[in-house]
Amino acid sequence: MILWLQNKVDVLEFHSVQVRSASAAFHLPSVLRLRKYIRPNFSSVVVKLSRQNLFLRDNHTCQYCGDRFPEKALTVDHVHPVSKGGQHIWTNVVAACGPCNNKKGDMTPEQAGMRLKKRPVQPKWLPSKEFSYSRNSHCPSDWEPYLAHLRKAP
Ligand SMILES: [Zn+2]
Repeated sequence: MILWLQNKVDVLEFHSVQVRSASAAFHLPSVLRLRKYIRPNFSSVVVKLSRQNLFLRDNHTCQYCGDRFPEKALTVDHVHPVSKGGQHIWTNVVAACGPCNNKKGDMTPEQAGMRLKKRPVQPKWLPSKEFSYSRNSHCPSDWEPYLAHLRKAP
């Protein structure tokens, strides 16, 4: 609302919900277009280590067999097993499919004779969740036309 009142955005869609001030009523904006691109300051971003963020970093791809999977078919693998002192940190976790995680078990990739597709890194940023919206995700219907080209989730 503030960006809109400051003329920094164009409102492309509105929610049906209204907000009221003492003298006026506004429909809440639903889709905005920035008039000037604002470069995000990634240097101040700390990406939280969560299952969802890990799978986004690894592009929903098992880091052992290289196949893509939906979120529910992926597991979090500790490259250096926790039972052997491995830590739950970005540089020690990768997305793995169930069969690869079972095969690796409680071993390091070397012991299991498996190779990582990529060395795990601490991400500086992640694509927003919109990039992985699936058909059955719950986004407002008036966002659909703007997200259609972003649908990439398996
Ligand atoms: Zn796999």
